[in-house]
Amino acid sequence: MFRSAIIAGLGALGSELAQHVGHLKPRQVILVDQDLLEYKNIERSIFWRDASPGQSKVVAAAQILSNAFPDTEWIGITGEIADLSTDFFVESDILLGAVDTDLARVEMAAIGARYALDICDAGLGGTSLHVGRVSWFPHDRDLQSACFTCLLSARRRAELLQFWQAENHSCSRSTQPLDPTWSSTSETVKRIAKVQAMAAARAGTRRSRWPSQTLQIDLGAKQRVHRIHHLHSEDCPFHDNDVFRGELFPRCSRAVCSSCGTTVPTSVRVGWLRNWGRCDQCGGRQVPDDARQFVTEADEQFA
Ligand SMILES: [Zn+2]
Ligand SMILES: [Zn+2]
Repeated sequence: MFRSAIIAGLGALGSELAQHVGHLKPRQVILVDQDLLEYKNIERSIFWRDASPGQSKVVAAAQILSNAFPDTEWIGITGEIADLSTDFFVESDILLGAVDTDLARVEMAAIGARYALDICDAGLGGTSLHVGRVSWFPHDRDLQSACFTCLLSARRRAELLQFWQAENHSCSRSTQPLDPTWSSTSETVKRIAKVQAMAAARAGTRRSRWPSQTLQIDLGAKQRVHRIHHLHSEDCPFHDNDVFRGELFPRCSRAVCSSCGTTVPTSVRVGWLRNWGRCDQCGGRQVPDDARQFVTEADEQFA
């Protein structure tokens, strides 16, 4: 059982997961999410009933969870998982993923390798409203256990690693989140979150450490759970100590507006800028103005 955890993502799945984790009474939980609460969140889930639209999700959630589970210290950090300060990774035992993009999962895999964190990740949707999965990616000292990035096709892996570091990407569709509440029933969300919390508590105990694996869950099927074991891919870049020298997530020193061309100094992460950067002058999307050097580095690292 873990003592301290990071929960990445506080959507439908993450907010359920946080409550199950609360019952396990860890010492500390860090909640990470970039989003502000919207009306639809509050309408759809009783969890948010005392929160208000426009509030930061993690700030509202930390308050709600502190009241419900006072034995645990709940800390909310507004941002993406890759923005979290190193101290949190060093202090935590496990990274619990409830994110909705593959890019965030790749970032989690990199963080897990670098900071020796076990990862328990879950996802919803797929072939029916009743389908989800819970994956366990343990850290091991030799970096030989399969990670999320090992499971991707070579092409998809290259695409995501490129997006992480590259200068221009015409369209962010490949990283657009799916809204799981449209593709899963609330019952499915609840069950997957519960399995994830239980797996996280059991999988990493000293007596029985599970190897990398996924529990594929279909609540509508006769056989509800299929266990799939994962092998580490030779082409995955996250199993070589050399890859983790230097800054894990490149930062950007100048942002340029893709509409009006206004350039401003900045210090945000390249990935963050690409997802969230907006021009003060015209509201247009910002892109990194100085990422060319990172492309070269990325080519070397992931060649
Ligand atoms: Zn891997
Ligand atoms: Zn502009």
